[in-house]
Amino acid sequence: MELLIATQNPGKAREFRLLFAPLQEHICFPSDLGLQIEVLEDGDSYADNAGKKALAYARASELLTLADDSGLEVDALGGAPGIRSARYAPGHDADRAASLLAHLRDVEWERRAARFRCVIVIITPTGKTYNVEGVCEGLIAFEPAGEGGFGYDSVFYLPDYDCTMAQLSQEKKNRVSHRARAAEAAIPILRRLLA
Ligand code: IMP
Repeated sequence: MELLIATQNPGKAREFRLLFAPLQEHICFPSDLGLQIEVLEDGDSYADNAGKKALAYARASELLTLADDSGLEVDALGGAPGIRSARYAPGHDADRAASLLAHLRDVEWERRAARFRCVIVIITPTGKTYNVEGVCEGLIAFEPAGEGGFGYDSVFYLPDYDCTMAQLSQEKKNRVSHRARAAEAAIPILRRLLA
């Protein structure tokens, strides 16, 4: 059985390809199947949105399908941008990171705690679903640093590494990130389903 990783986000696809390398002979991406589906991410939770994406692609492909929804939760902003992370400000990733820094301009270091959260939903061809989650804790930096990653990586500071997520190699990000932790939880489920 094949496993479809339902993302159109190139940053996520790059990471998933490495995270699911242990299952590499099974995985495919929407572009491999010529699939491009617009899914309205209007759910109330990461699980709702990931479930909508997974369901749309599972129906179209009839394959075992996995989708994620993820976001950045900033304590000083009451958990925002959260499920709205991709739409927090118009423009590109750098514009959204800049907007976040502007909102936190007067917030001191001790109050800049934040976390990335990733929920992965797996749907089997018979419609059975599985949800797993991964979290990565950090702080919002005062200015962007680093060229790697995508999204808010350049402003997400990891105390254990004394650098931002965008300053980590892809290999290191894939050991500590929210997506890596969710993928780690998903792999045993996927192995069982693919067996
Ligand atoms: P969605 O999961 O496609 O709704 O998008 C989540 C948004 O959260 C992305 O567009 C990024 O802005 C942000 N995000 C999710 N994962 C990461 C990550 O690993 N690094 C930085 N930003 C991320």
